[in-house]
Amino acid sequence: MSKNHKLRPETIAAQSSRAVDPATGAVAPPLYLTTTYARDENYQPKLAENYQRNGSPNLWQVEETIAALEKGVGALAFSSGMAAVVAFCETIPQGAHVVSLSTMYYGVRSWFQQLESKGRITLTLVEPESLASAITAKTDLVWIETPVNPTWDVIDISATASAAHKVGAILAVDATCLGAVACNPLALGTDVVFHSATKYLNGHTDVLAGVLVARESNARWAEVKRLRTIMGNTLPPFESWLLLRGLRTLHLRYVQSSKNAMAIARHFSLHPKLQQVLYPGLATQSGHAIAKLQMAGGFGGMMSFLLKADFAGSQKFCTRLNLFAPATSLGGVESLAEHRKTVEGPTSALPDNLVRLSIGIENINDLIEDLEQALAQVGSVLI
Ligand SMILES: *Cc1c(COP(=O)(O)O)cnc(C)c1O
Repeated sequence: MSKNHKLRPETIAAQSSRAVDPATGAVAPPLYLTTTYARDENYQPKLAENYQRNGSPNLWQVEETIAALEKGVGALAFSSGMAAVVAFCETIPQGAHVVSLSTMYYGVRSWFQQLESKGRITLTLVEPESLASAITAKTDLVWIETPVNPTWDVIDISATASAAHKVGAILAVDATCLGAVACNPLALGTDVVFHSATKYLNGHTDVLAGVLVARESNARWAEVKRLRTIMGNTLPPFESWLLLRGLRTLHLRYVQSSKNAMAIARHFSLHPKLQQVLYPGLATQSGHAIAKLQMAGGFGGMMSFLLKADFAGSQKFCTRLNLFAPATSLGGVESLAEHRKTVEGPTSALPDNLVRLSIGIENINDLIEDLEQALAQVGSVLI
C-alpha cells in the first residue's frame, strides 16, 4: 500500500502521488514521452519497467493516486474505460455465470451480451431488486453500477458484496458516477472497482481513459495486468499526465456538480412540463435511503428528466438548450444533455421522454434559467 493511504482524499488528489520531482524539483510532474529507457552501467534497468507498453512514470503517478483515493492495493489504467472492461472480462473462466443489470451503461451491458452470444459466459441480467436472487452457486462475477445509468437508482454495495461472497463470486462495481468521492466501494466489500476515468476523474472532457482498482492482489489481478501489457492499451504518458492534472481538482468539481444537481433536482421536481426528475438525492428516488448512507461525499452530478413530451419533443428540448451541449458523455466541468434512446437505438428499453443531464460546475442560476427556457419551448404531450 502507498504511504498516501494515511492522508485524506482531498490532499492525495491535490498533491498527487509524488508532487515534487526528485530529479529536478519540478512541482508539477514532468511528462516522459519516451517509449524506452536505457539501462545503467551494470546493464540493470533503472525503472520497474523500461518500455512504454508496460508502463511509464506518468502512468504510475496516476495509478498510485487513484489506488490511494480508492484505498486499493493497486490500480491499472487503460486507454479507455471499455478497454479496461474488455481486459477484465477476459479473466472470466470459460462458461462461467455472470450476473449484471438489465438497465446500466449501454456499452458494458452489450459487451456482456456479445460474450454470451459467443458462448464465452452465461449471463443473467436483472433489475436491481432481483440481484441477490439471481446469484447462484455457479456465479463467478457480479457486475453492478451505482447509481444506475440513466435511471439513477442506487444499489446497496455491501448487501450485493455479501450475496456474491456467499457463493464464492466476486463483485465488481462500475463506480464512474461515484467519482471516487461519493464513497469507497472497496471498503464496502467490492473486489474490483472500475471507473471510466474519461468522466469525473479527468473531468475536462479531453482524455479517454479507464481504470481498475483491486482490493487484493491475486492471480486474476496479475492476469489483467498481463493482458494490458500484451494488448498495449496501457494509458499513454500524455493522457496519464492530463488525467493526473484533472484529478488535482476532483473533489472541488464533484462537490460543486453535486450541489448544482441537488438544486436543479429540487427546483424542477414538481415542474409542470416534467413527469419526474430522477436523482439519487430526491426522497422520491428508488434507493434514496441507501444513497443517504452510501453517498456521503455527494449525490453526484447525474440526473434524468422524464418530460411530458414524446420522442421528437424530448430531442427538441436537447437542441433548445443554450448552455447544456447536446452531447454524450458525463462528469465534465461543462453541463451536457442527452436523449438516451436516440443514442442507444430502437432496441433500447428506455422511455422516449428520458433526457439525461450531466450537471457541471457553472453558476446554478444560469443552468436553471437555461433549462427553464428550453422547457418553455417544448409543447406538452400528455403521456
Ligand atoms: C463512459 C462510461 C463507460 C465507458 O468508458 P469509456 O471511457 O467511454 O470507454 C463505462 N461505464 C460508465 C458508467 C460510463 O459512463
